[in-house]
Amino acid sequence: MRLITHNMLQCHVKDCNTNNFPLRFEDAEVELIEADYNPTFLVNMLPKIEWEALANTAVQLGINNVPSQVPENAAENEEFLKALHNLLLETHVQQGKMVCNNCQHVYNIKDGIPNMLLAEHEI
Ligand SMILES: [Zn+2]
Repeated sequence: MRLITHNMLQCHVKDCNTNNFPLRFEDAEVELIEADYNPTFLVNMLPKIEWEALANTAVQLGINNVPSQVPENAAENEEFLKALHNLLLETHVQQGKMVCNNCQHVYNIKDGIPNMLLAEHEI
């Protein structure tokens, strides 16, 4: 699962409506998988990214070079865009779990795919 996907996921357990984003990674195994660099795509994605969540998530994964804020010249800043590309599109969590900080629900990740299914009583 790429971090761009994680940045769009929130807990969807019934009545879990606050503090349910971002899901916290635990026991995460990270793999870097090369992808085509597309700066236009990144610039278009930027407004949709929850930056604070992304920066905090990166730290959880041991990635400590993410700026705390998007630089003002982001669209022209190739160094930033390349680092963003690497973070959002090439950093995959292959195994581990995501835990909701509110209800503590655990979403397991296996072979890069998060299991977002809920038990019946959680729907
Ligand atoms: Zn939850």
